[in-house]
Amino acid sequence: MQDITEGEMKAYFKSEAKDFNKAWGAITLGIATDDVYPADLPLHNQIHLKNGETVPYTNSDSIFVSMSKPGDSRRTKAGMRTLNVSTHASPEYWYSLNGDYDTAKQQVQGFIVDTLRSKLPGFSRAQIDVIHTATPVTWENWVYRKKGRVGGIPQSMARSLLKWTPNETPFKGLYLCGDTTFPGQGIPGVTLSGINVYSRIKKNHH
Ligand SMILES: Cc1cc2nc3c(=O)[nH]c(=O)nc-3n(C[C@H](O)[C@H](O)[C@H](O)COP(=O)(O)OP(=O)(O)OC[C@H]3O[C@@H](n4cnc5c(N)ncnc54)[C@H](O)[C@@H]3O)c2cc1C
Repeated sequence: MQDITEGEMKAYFKSEAKDFNKAWGAITLGIATDDVYPADLPLHNQIHLKNGETVPYTNSDSIFVSMSKPGDSRRTKAGMRTLNVSTHASPEYWYSLNGDYDTAKQQVQGFIVDTLRSKLPGFSRAQIDVIHTATPVTWENWVYRKKGRVGGIPQSMARSLLKWTPNETPFKGLYLCGDTTFPGQGIPGVTLSGINVYSRIKKNHH
């Protein structure tokens, strides 16, 4: 906001933002394979890496995998499965790689595929039909968020919820919602910020 406002408003957003110099980003993979998974494999999985191990170029030590249901032919061709894979990443890092960006992205993709081969039941037998890897740079192209900071500001015990930027601003008619405002990231938090804004507008315009 401080980049797109002027004067008093700019000063307000500069001061609001000074405690929030870190935000989450994501590396995500979309994969389609043949359906070779055990029937009792859950659709949502979190794979933990070995103690001390992290996904290359991130400090993330686990990987989330959500799969389409067997027989779901809307998300992929009949007889296939889709896997939506994600892990946390620091957005800033992916903007500092210059000529090494493509190699780093390939390395992350290779690491995650190897991890799925060794830890996700059935995946070692799977034929990969489609694979697409996205970094914070890709996310910025998709949803225009600054530096691809999807996922909001990290929640921390060191920061009171009351310090989050409020939904109502000191400026008449300017309200804020979304995962960088109170009460923070995630679909429930973002929804509540929208409901808060609705209630304030209703109250203020009565
Ligand atoms: C991989 C991943 C997994 C996640 N998993 C979960 C989960 O399991 N549970 C959960 O609760 N949360 C999850 N989250 C977090 C959740 O998705 C976000 O916190 C939430 O979507 C943020 O909502 P938002 O409305 O603040 O922002 P966004 O959803 O980013 O919406 C902002 C919108 O504004 C649009 N936009 C941007 N700039 C402009 C412009 N200049 N003009 C017009 N439009 C513009 C964008 O295109 C976008 O549609 C996940 C996030 C990621 C990335």
